[in-house]
Amino acid sequence: MTTVTSDLKKSAKKVPVRGMMDNVMEQFNSAADHINLHPNIRKILSITNNEILVNFPVKMDNGEVEIFTGYRVQHNNALGPYKGGLRYHPTVDLDAARALAMWMTWKTSLAGLPYGGGKGGIKIDPKKYSESELERITRRFTFALADNIGPEHDIPAPDVNTNSQTMAWIADTYMSTRPPAERTANQHVVTGKPDASGGLEGRDRATGYGVYLTIKFWAEKTNVSLNGKKFIVQGFGNVGYWASYFLEKDGAKLVAVQDASGSIENQNGIGVDELFAHCQNNSGRIADFAGSKTVDGNKFFAIDCDICIPAALGNQITKENAPDIKAKLIAEGANGPTNVEGEKILLDRGITIIPDILCNSGGVVGSYFEWLQNRNGEIWQLDEVMVKLDKKMKESFNKVYDYSKTQKVDMRTAAFCIAIQRIEKAYIQRGIFP
Ligand code: GLU
Repeated sequence: MTTVTSDLKKSAKKVPVRGMMDNVMEQFNSAADHINLHPNIRKILSITNNEILVNFPVKMDNGEVEIFTGYRVQHNNALGPYKGGLRYHPTVDLDAARALAMWMTWKTSLAGLPYGGGKGGIKIDPKKYSESELERITRRFTFALADNIGPEHDIPAPDVNTNSQTMAWIADTYMSTRPPAERTANQHVVTGKPDASGGLEGRDRATGYGVYLTIKFWAEKTNVSLNGKKFIVQGFGNVGYWASYFLEKDGAKLVAVQDASGSIENQNGIGVDELFAHCQNNSGRIADFAGSKTVDGNKFFAIDCDICIPAALGNQITKENAPDIKAKLIAEGANGPTNVEGEKILLDRGITIIPDILCNSGGVVGSYFEWLQNRNGEIWQLDEVMVKLDKKMKESFNKVYDYSKTQKVDMRTAAFCIAIQRIEKAYIQRGIFP
């Protein structure tokens, strides 16, 4: 068996995660050039507003104290409170948080939400800690962040290796440390909570459903039928699973999957629900799935398919593997999965990329619905959520697609231009204090 200690880690090592900031800045600058962005606004958007780094102690199960480092970077709030996830991963550092926060600014702006962009997390491998340790780490991190987060100021959400349980701990800790009369009114300090704790029905599938929708919209625009199309997915977490689930319902065939435990392939099709059930009994890992063969992780992106969905970490598609990619469409479920060099090769080869800030924006749109629901004291039904999500994703997709056609630019440049112009307008209207 290929032990991909892993396939994901190997690729991450080749291109340091530090490169994410270079990527987002190159993407930003090329769009800024295209729209001739005002130089003062370019200066403002090139830097982050606030960068919070906290070191905090936590008592482990064995009684010893360990020190953890957590981050929250707030890039820009011209359009509204900072919004973005918290990830628990060894690659989390200031540079990664900066890049990911910037992507959130473009993502929320493009989606037409009243939010800015932030991101953060803890430099940690959560697999090494027990559930009760993770709870104490999360609660102490929340306490350390203190008033740097807040329901009308900075609203975290799940990201890599964090989930609704993590959000419930954050909400509870934040609310417990408010003055008594303010406690319950602060539930929307985080989104992505479990349903009984103010969570939104359907928030779990919102990102993956959005990924699927953007693929479906692209297929409709280009007169392609998804029936029988083969797709591969890197990362079988929340995003990878739900995107696969909806694609399979439309007749597309999952033929290969990669996660930190290995890479598997079956050109006759991998049953999405079978693989999901296998993961449930296998600590979330795809390795050893009976209905497939194990393949070389380094050649994962070269597997024969029509659609490729990177839904794990950043910097996975690079100049090393881009020339071998067989897919005609890349749908970026992850943030920053394609670096600038890799992207150039793909575009030269005529491969379409649905960029992350559009493709995976269903998650933050779902978060916005949850925030509104909490703020207004409402409880929304699943069918209502899905219809609203569909409408929002379609609007964003059409805006980006049409811009890319009329301006003759790729979809990422189009998405960035639209996002930046909305923020530029806000600055022009308001001016710079004082
Ligand atoms: N972490 C997700 C993202 O990268 C969701 C962010 C949110 O809902 O605030 O878009």
